[in-house]
Amino acid sequence: MSSTVESNYKDKCDGSGKNKSKIYCQFCPSVILNPGMGTFLVHEFDLPHVRSKGDEGVESQLAKYTDYWLIEDMYTFENVSITKTVGNIKYLACADCEIGPIGYMDQSTKKCYVALSRVTYTHKCP
Ligand SMILES: [Zn+2]
Repeated sequence: MSSTVESNYKDKCDGSGKNKSKIYCQFCPSVILNPGMGTFLVHEFDLPHVRSKGDEGVESQLAKYTDYWLIEDMYTFENVSITKTVGNIKYLACADCEIGPIGYMDQSTKKCYVALSRVTYTHKCP
């Protein structure tokens, strides 16, 4: 069973459907993506629940996400790391705290998808 997680995407997009503010990690002050680098996309994909690096190997439940930022190239990110490869999918996490996944990369297309509600849009003071 999976639940669907929705986000209020209109607040986060500029006129052309790109992210209008910087995208930050939810758990540390790292910048994930600069403004205008991601494109809003309605896209259904199940992501495992958020966990930190030490939890690997624990069977994880999936949650269905339908709102994503599409990033055409992994090098567009300011900070991102790959945590785990499952088949054709590489899960993405914050490069600093390694808590994730915040999204994934499809290895067949090299495109990256970041769930809107797995990241934050206001900078947290450390
Ligand atoms: Zn982080």
